[in-house]
Amino acid sequence: MSYVLEGLTGAWELVIGLEVHAQVISQAKLFSGAPASYGGEPNAHVSLVDAAFPGMLPVINKECVAQAVRTGLGLNARVNLESRFDRKNYFYADLPAGYQISQFTRPLIGAGTLEIELADGSLRQIGITRLHLEQDAGKSMHDQSPTKSLIDLNRAGVGLMEIVSEPDMRSPEEAGAYLRKLRTILRYLGTCDGNMEEGSMRADVNVSVRRAGEPLRTRCEIKNVNSVRFVMQAIEIEARRQIEVWERDGVVDQETRLFDPGRGETRSLRSKEDAHDYRYFPDPDLLPLVLDEGWLAALKAQLPELPDAKRDRFITQYGIARNDAGVLVADRAVADYFEVVAVGAEPRLAANWVTGDLFAALNRTGRSIDDSPVTAPALRDLLRLVGDQTINGRIAKDVFEEMVQTGEPAEALIERKGLRQITDPAALSAAIDDVIARHPDKLAEFRSGKEKLFGFFVGQVMKATQGRGNPALVNEALGRRLRL
Ligand code: ADP
Ligand code: MG
Repeated sequence: MSYVLEGLTGAWELVIGLEVHAQVISQAKLFSGAPASYGGEPNAHVSLVDAAFPGMLPVINKECVAQAVRTGLGLNARVNLESRFDRKNYFYADLPAGYQISQFTRPLIGAGTLEIELADGSLRQIGITRLHLEQDAGKSMHDQSPTKSLIDLNRAGVGLMEIVSEPDMRSPEEAGAYLRKLRTILRYLGTCDGNMEEGSMRADVNVSVRRAGEPLRTRCEIKNVNSVRFVMQAIEIEARRQIEVWERDGVVDQETRLFDPGRGETRSLRSKEDAHDYRYFPDPDLLPLVLDEGWLAALKAQLPELPDAKRDRFITQYGIARNDAGVLVADRAVADYFEVVAVGAEPRLAANWVTGDLFAALNRTGRSIDDSPVTAPALRDLLRLVGDQTINGRIAKDVFEEMVQTGEPAEALIERKGLRQITDPAALSAAIDDVIARHPDKLAEFRSGKEKLFGFFVGQVMKATQGRGNPALVNEALGRRLRL
């Protein structure tokens, strides 16, 4: 079922295209040797190139190019063996050179695709238009002094990948799924940390609306949205605004807007008429970027297994449900954790425990998977003890909770607390006899046809064994005994 918004005059379809800026993970900046790391004292990570001192020349950082190529390969995109850097000219205090080095007409990476999965399980292919490398700008700080604006050039010159999608998305949900999937892929590749809160991944959101079957209408671009939730909110709010304009017989102007989450509205920043003319031209300080085919092949050969491939492998290798596999591969650390558990214990049980009890425990304790209070080998050992019938599933939950609190290994804990499962038929029938002796009334009711009392007896026997009875054996023995 497709997503539409109802206006006063009928249904409207949404059209969404995203431009994502992703900061390249590298030691140094794109064209200088200054550190690309986050934070630091203002202007501590600035070389003469970043500060655009006269006569300074840019030198391309090969690792940044490799990172962009890996990303292109991860997006099933064409890698252009020859690309070019252009100057994008504008004046701003945090841009000392007066231009940003970017790629305009000939980007490093061409068309690709990204597959998203929606809540109803359906799959969609979203087209990637291009990916190019460019420099980040510095930061102006207007709130540090009552009389001055200050400039921090630590970010100036840091490598960014701009990843542009086709206008292929049709709902806030699709845009959210696209961003999350892109972030997962970048993190798998190790090419961007994907931290939207820190600004190392940010999105410009292009939105238009139309009647079903129409050609594209005018879009607006919402700049620099910094969380998946805000992107989804901004899309719906902006689409509703445009619908209102069209329905009032107005015209949507192509403009750049800002999203204000506090007020739940988008506001105009600048219209197309005052859009910048950047006077792009090839940067004369840089030669065209020509890739060596052998180098490209080596990068390709070293790519890690990506989320889609890992999901498909989990399904076939471990026999787990597609949905569980999708959840497990969304975070590489979770996928790795799961595999350690699944190799040593029953995989479907492992998937249930990781996505259920483990996730709940991480949530509760505010810990991340890398810092999990129960390590993967520890959970594997616990599930082995369920698999070999040392403990039953109910007791395993309690043992796990205790492991979360204390970090004690499952086996030691089970021995110390005497939690081994009772499978001895004599011990179980003694417990059963005892329960029956204490409930003659219930026995009579059961025998006169009140079958659902069976559950009551099971519960009583489990209680009598402090939850340690083997559930299958208890059921079986009880069934035989009650139906005598
Ligand atoms: P610009 O470089 O001026 O931002 P582009 O043509 O590169 O313009 O498009 C930028 C983004 O806008 C792309 O992600 C594209 O998918 C999206 N886009 C283009 N047309 C529309 C439209 N009519 N509705 C929604 N998004 C659009
Ligand atoms: Mg744009």
